[in-house]
Amino acid sequence: MTERYSRQVLFPGIGKNGQEALRNKHVLIIGAGALGAANAEMIVRAGVGRITIIDRDYVDFSNLQRQNLYTEQDAIDRIPKADAARKRLLSINSDIIIDSLTLDADADFFERFLSREVVDLIIDGTDNFDIRFIINDAAQKYEIPWVYGACVASGGLSLLIIPGKTPCLHCLMDTIPQAGATCDTAGIISPAVQMTASAQTAEALKWLTGNADALRGTVFSFDLWTNQFSSVDVARLQKPDCPSCGANPVYPFLSYERSTKFAVLCGRDTVQIRPAGIDRRDLHLLFENVKKNADVTHQNAFLLSFKNDPYTVTAFKDGRVFIQGVSSVEESKKVYYRYFQ
Ligand SMILES: [Zn+2]
Repeated sequence: MTERYSRQVLFPGIGKNGQEALRNKHVLIIGAGALGAANAEMIVRAGVGRITIIDRDYVDFSNLQRQNLYTEQDAIDRIPKADAARKRLLSINSDIIIDSLTLDADADFFERFLSREVVDLIIDGTDNFDIRFIINDAAQKYEIPWVYGACVASGGLSLLIIPGKTPCLHCLMDTIPQAGATCDTAGIISPAVQMTASAQTAEALKWLTGNADALRGTVFSFDLWTNQFSSVDVARLQKPDCPSCGANPVYPFLSYERSTKFAVLCGRDTVQIRPAGIDRRDLHLLFENVKKNADVTHQNAFLLSFKNDPYTVTAFKDGRVFIQGVSSVEESKKVYYRYFQ
């Protein structure tokens, strides 16, 4: 065993066997924002052999206060988070296989990816329940444990969900709060991120090293400002007729009807548009089309941004478009259909 992991190998819960086990694991991290970045850094430093990290966004200055993998230069260049994360993570541990994907992880993605790849664990680094319910259904269908995590303001919560053993997120739909404060309305401090990610990564390490006895098995929640901590046993809330994990599962969130989707992004006066049936966009062609009437501000292999006051439009290679400077989804539709038909 190399010097790099010596302190972790000394820890009895991991040891030499646990370290060897980590080397052979593949962890899928959904989201490279605050939680995704914090989890990814710990997972990579711990020596998990392979990670795949996915994110739909690029680095913005408002991220730097809490998203620990990114630099000012990443924000200036609008580097996609997955790509910036990969570069930084490889500079931390070049011994790990790190794949980065800039895309919106939807039901189609999970079906394609999980039917092709062996994944030992999924870590939730997202910020919304639409995608968490898709992760939950995919995890149930492909029998992969996943670690739910959420944080806002000075608090957070996490839970490891194991198909066939624990209740799933769908079972807990009425128990776990889904609406209310977001980082948009309540703000967030970085200790809340690090604490939530630590709770997630700890369960991940236990699972990946075969320490099932040490798993917490509860919903862990805390508030670092009001000094409250709780650990709630939810084992009894597993529903035998749950549509996602029950006796006859239908995985409702994997079969969500395909259509153009508009989503307001947290804290950015930005709307994301994911057009139905378009998964590639010719950015060179787009550049030729817009250069006469708009000011192209950023261009790289992943995206093209142009400004036409008061809006900034960013088109991604995977077909998605961000419209910044809009106050509603309706307004974003007008701008979108002006440039993309
Ligand atoms: Zn369930």
